[in-house]
Amino acid sequence: MTETRTSPTSATTGVPFSFELYPPKTDAAATALHTTIDHLAAAGPEFLSVTYGANGSSRTSSLDLLRYILAHTDVDPMAHLTCVGSSHAEASVLIREFLDVGIRSFLALRGDPPQGAVEGESFLGDLHSAAELVQLIHGVQTERVPYRETVIPGLPDARSVKTEPVKVRIAVAAFPNGHPRSRSTTQDIDTLLAKQAAGANLAITQLFFHADDFLCFSQRARQAGVEFPILPGIMPVTSPGRLRRILELSGEPLPSELSISLEVEPTIEGQREIGIEHAARLAADVLAGGAPGVHLYAFNQHETVLEVLRRCGALPTATSHRSPASIHPAAHSAAHNVRESA
Ligand code: FAD
Repeated sequence: MTETRTSPTSATTGVPFSFELYPPKTDAAATALHTTIDHLAAAGPEFLSVTYGANGSSRTSSLDLLRYILAHTDVDPMAHLTCVGSSHAEASVLIREFLDVGIRSFLALRGDPPQGAVEGESFLGDLHSAAELVQLIHGVQTERVPYRETVIPGLPDARSVKTEPVKVRIAVAAFPNGHPRSRSTTQDIDTLLAKQAAGANLAITQLFFHADDFLCFSQRARQAGVEFPILPGIMPVTSPGRLRRILELSGEPLPSELSISLEVEPTIEGQREIGIEHAARLAADVLAGGAPGVHLYAFNQHETVLEVLRRCGALPTATSHRSPASIHPAAHSAAHNVRESA
């Protein structure tokens, strides 16, 4: 296999951005995703995050994708991890496995209960919240690398020992419009404070459709004492079907204007344009309001999210980054075919 590493160019506008990907389900989708990753990496993101199926259902495929990012790009891969239903020992083994392949960034999540389970019942396992998972990741990492040995110049057989745990980035989820199960908006801020106290150093938000949802939430979080950056999660919604699905999954309130625009637009290209324009405006507004960057839900495709970044000013419009098409020509054509038939 050719070892090609795609470097972040940072020939960008200085606005930090990142993308979320999910593990592919077929070999063809995996090949297509590798091409997508080449394109996304060439744009210079801060990190590429990879989702994790509830109850560990995507453990191997998530890890494979993270390994690919590590081996083929210079972008930091961020592993989503969930702890729902795990014992303390199982979660520790899982964290160690990810650390052992070289992952140093995590998005620590509690995860959703299995279908039909009631909050507060025993489905949770040993860890009851994302905050406890944050603590456990720090704990496992500290135990794993308790010290570093260095050769002493002139004394080839001697070693100096230094306690120097490698820093890990631990992001957590935040919900500008409230977690569907939270009892009040105060609870969402309190949860974020608990995650901060546990050692989280970044938050990424659930998708939202109005800049004020994010900006007001961030302001309330700051006033309550949340100090880490809160990255807005932005999803380009490029069809009425996708909008319906994500509202069902996220429980977010219906964005009526966007919904009507998508429903009345007859063409797929026109719907895509509406989704890109809406996401780009949202990104530009939150950035103007002080957001520390943008995190885009990429749906394993690069064209749409890169266009959103160009339109909101986070990427130069003239593509100054190198085209990775030359890196994997076979993969490029496979990717195109898969998306054409999707
Ligand atoms: P927690 O923050 O632990 O919260 C769960 C509930 O308990 C909330 O109602 C919260 O308010 C309450 N709570 C927790 N601690 C406290 C406290 N100390 N005080 C008061 N209330 C508290 N799911 C996946 O399965 N895989 C993924 O890859 C994935 N990626 C995601 C990425 C992002 C950016 C986001 C926003 C969500 C993602 N999810 C993913 C969904 C996530 O698993 C669900 O939202 C899940 O229901 C809760 O996880 P959490 O980490 O928010 O839990």
